Amino acid sequence: MSRFDLLIRGGLVFDGTGRPGREADVAADGGRLTVLPPGAAADAAEVIDARGRAVAPGFIDVHTHSDGVALLRQDDRELVRAAVIQGVTTEISGNCGSGLFPALSERVDAMRADTRVTFGGDVGMYQDFTGFAEAHARVPRANHLASLVGHGTLRSGVLGPVDRPATPTELAAMCDLLDRALSQGAAGLSTGLIYTPGTYASTDEVVALAAVAARHGKPYVTHLRDEMSRVEEALEEAVEIARRSGAPLHVSHHKTAGRYAWGRTERTLPRIAELRAGGMDVTCDVYPYTAGSTALAAMLPPWANDGGLAALTRRLGSPEERDRMRRAIAEGVPGWENTVGNGGWDRISVACAPRNPQTEGRTIAELAAAAAADPLDVVAELLLSEGGEVTIISHSMIEDDVRRVLAAPYAMIGSDGVPKPGGRPHPRWAGTFPRVLGHYVRELGLLTLESAVHKMTGMAAARFGLAGRGVIRDGAHADLVVFDPDTVADGATFTDPLLPPSGVEAVVVGGSVVVREGVETGARPGTVLAL
Ligand SMILES: [Zn+2]
Repeated sequence: MSRFDLLIRGGLVFDGTGRPGREADVAADGGRLTVLPPGAAADAAEVIDARGRAVAPGFIDVHTHSDGVALLRQDDRELVRAAVIQGVTTEISGNCGSGLFPALSERVDAMRADTRVTFGGDVGMYQDFTGFAEAHARVPRANHLASLVGHGTLRSGVLGPVDRPATPTELAAMCDLLDRALSQGAAGLSTGLIYTPGTYASTDEVVALAAVAARHGKPYVTHLRDEMSRVEEALEEAVEIARRSGAPLHVSHHKTAGRYAWGRTERTLPRIAELRAGGMDVTCDVYPYTAGSTALAAMLPPWANDGGLAALTRRLGSPEERDRMRRAIAEGVPGWENTVGNGGWDRISVACAPRNPQTEGRTIAELAAAAAADPLDVVAELLLSEGGEVTIISHSMIEDDVRRVLAAPYAMIGSDGVPKPGGRPHPRWAGTFPRVLGHYVRELGLLTLESAVHKMTGMAAARFGLAGRGVIRDGAHADLVVFDPDTVADGATFTDPLLPPSGVEAVVVGGSVVVREGVETGARPGTVLAL
């Protein structure tokens, strides 16, 4: 009789390829899987009874901002564990143009200050992907982490946070840093073209960088320059970048947000389908909520952030500059997304403002009305009081668009989670995967279970080059999740964003059980994946 490290008995196995579930036993030994006929004569050091349960490859969260959460000095387990207790066995960070590497030594201190703001604590900046991986290796983790290289981070390292084109020398330096990080194992190139400093880049600059990713066979992953009224133009820019560079294209958290773009997925999705039919390698990801989340400072016109935090602070203190910002929001600025102009301050609520907790959960419009003040002045005072960093939730989408993207056959699942201590962050970090399985699969029947699992596993692994992951087959990596399809559900809400999910019973990483009966076991077999 064969003896394994771990045996999962009697479950309905969804292998991650999109095939319907079938009964099988799944064994792990030395971190690799063996699929056995149901009831096979086998024994193991540890046996999990999965009768009546689904067994799937561990989920791959293709879109996180969890680059630094495990490195925070206070090990905030509630925050860190929120991914793995959903069944996420691999997180992909470095999204939206922002990551923790590479940093040039002459700018490392300034960049470190920026990341302190972005990640809610001092998580360091690293010279290259290897340095980033080494820092994480010193903090044992439950699941795996992979990372993209952020274009904004590259640009900030070489040029600083300034609104001007890169010189040919600077662009060459950015390409060299990217090439090095990709050679070391980073997963691809990401941009965040609504954010500073990414928004200061021309299409040509991004083409040059995406060409480096293409040489490595790695994707160009983009938060489009506009996800609102000009989303179609922004998608065409991404298509142009992919065509000219030769890189596979992945559109991050695809949405058509703001009242002028509601319903526009009826045009963007057929466009992507048409590109795919024409042979282009293009995919996207999506989170299952009609609200987004970002920085309050991103609601201001790009010039307001030119020069970085110190310059922003100076402008926020000036009544004339505030008037200019008010006008820019009311009238728009060419090439700028302008969330508030597309929605209104009543759709923006404060998520995290640690020095002003009384503002958390309230909209800017409510705060302005209560103070009998103009919303822009409320925003300016709040940003000044919080050192520039306030996280907001933007209620900017409609359900029909979210459902259409979720159902698209090339859309995978990414939480876009921003795990940062304090406040009321968006519940997507702790709720995304069980929410898709419970709400959209079981309650609404929008997707079949096998299709949802495929979007969370095999499809994601194929896109990001995670060889031997995202599938259940002989020899694959033993990353698994066992859940109850009849009860799986998200617990996280906007008022209590870290509440754990229900129905996720066991999670296995590299053959070790890291979650049992919904609770962390304390095992820390996770690694940083060099791809
Ligand atoms: Zn983004």
